[in-house]
Amino acid sequence: MRMASWRWGGTHHAGTVSPCGREVTPLAVPQPERGALRLIQLLARGEALPRAAGPRLPIEAVELCSPLPRPLRSLFCVGRNYRSHAAELAGTVFRDSLPKEDGWPPVFTKFAECVVGPFDAVKMPARQASVQIDYESELAVVIGRGGIDISRSRAMDHVCGYTVVNDVSARDVQVRHHQWDLGKNFDTFCPMGPWITTADELDGRDTRVRGWVNGELRQDGRTQDMIFDIPSLIETCSRGITLHPGDVIATGTPAGVGMGFSPPRWLKSGDVVKIEIDGIGAIENRFH
Ligand code: MG
Repeated sequence: MRMASWRWGGTHHAGTVSPCGREVTPLAVPQPERGALRLIQLLARGEALPRAAGPRLPIEAVELCSPLPRPLRSLFCVGRNYRSHAAELAGTVFRDSLPKEDGWPPVFTKFAECVVGPFDAVKMPARQASVQIDYESELAVVIGRGGIDISRSRAMDHVCGYTVVNDVSARDVQVRHHQWDLGKNFDTFCPMGPWITTADELDGRDTRVRGWVNGELRQDGRTQDMIFDIPSLIETCSRGITLHPGDVIATGTPAGVGMGFSPPRWLKSGDVVKIEIDGIGAIENRFH
């Protein structure tokens, strides 16, 4: 199943996308402005989805929003989690803080307020704020049933589904402040979508993640290349912290970010970044 959120007729709706991807059906969801959040919570409690709240519509007729336009709280994000990406960072200012395979993953957060829709514009910051804007194509895990201290062996039982995220990053700001949060949290720096594909239809542990800038393929990886796999990440993020239905874990990016090129290839106003994950779909955002 695909759970989505959209605007149509001047108001928010949440519901499902047909298997062919061409139609949406609104469901009688409380607070549809929270997107799929209430659906995820119902499913986590083992309850049935609500009835349809209106006719099916062609997907071109609606404006798709992020499936979670305002997530419950900040997103958990994992840094340098693909072997290929860790290798490309070995030649950058981040070389001294690369994780060891037997160590712990770097985890930071992205504000819920950064999230924008799958085809929304991303706002380039003023030059005095940053001149090193970069993209990161990522698979995001959406938590279903919550829990604390979730073991690796049970972790996949807590996955509701998956969506696509661009973990947009201001590299100079990440470096300047030593901690990454300021450089990861500029307004609009978290495009998400186009919907959530539920875990019964996709196993995020082995799928293809690709990213293009202005049509040029820059990133092409598989989630099997992760240093810390999805069960490990759920175990890590739930250690002493209760995860709730609708929480999001962005799992890191494969090689091919702008910072990995020599010289680096920072995004500029007018650039279009497209990210596609097999089994989910694509998001495409213009930067300006
Ligand atoms: Mg990232």
